[in-house]
Amino acid sequence: MNCPTCGRGIAWNDTFPERPFCSDRCRLVDLGAWLNGERAIPGEPALEPGHPEQGLERPSPFPFPEDPH
Ligand SMILES: [Zn+2]
Repeated sequence: MNCPTCGRGIAWNDTFPERPFCSDRCRLVDLGAWLNGERAIPGEPALEPGHPEQGLERPSPFPFPEDPH
C-alpha cells in the first residue's frame, strides 16, 4: 500500500492511523485536491449534454394529412 498523495509505502496497521495516507498532512492534501476538482469522483455518472437515445422517438416533422380525395 502506498500513500495516494506522496506514494510513500505504508503499512496497513496502527502505525499509520491516517491510512491509506502516510500522514495527516497527506490526507489533507488529498482532500484539498478533491475539493479543487482535481480528482474525478469514482462512481459519479458523467453527465453529458447530449443523450444519444434522444431523437429516436421524436414526432415526425411532416404530419401527413389524410388525402382529401
Ligand atoms: Zn504521503
